[in-house]
Amino acid sequence: MNALVRWELQVVTDSPHSRACMEAEDTPTHVMLECTGVTEQREIYLGSRATIPEVLSNLGGMLGFWNELGWLE
Ligand SMILES: [Zn+2]
Repeated sequence: MNALVRWELQVVTDSPHSRACMEAEDTPTHVMLECTGVTEQREIYLGSRATIPEVLSNLGGMLGFWNELGWLE
């Protein structure tokens, strides 16, 4: 979990996800697992029913997902 927390802090600080949807939660886990604003990209890179352990073990998919959203820049 520590790696995830560190990573979340980094992503949240750099990339407010309000670009994708208007929901209150603004965390990478929301974006990767729940956000309705990025459903299409999530299905392509992470699968529509991914869990956090699955996402974290799929580094290529995760990076592709964020890169597709343009939030790594
Ligand atoms: Zn969202």
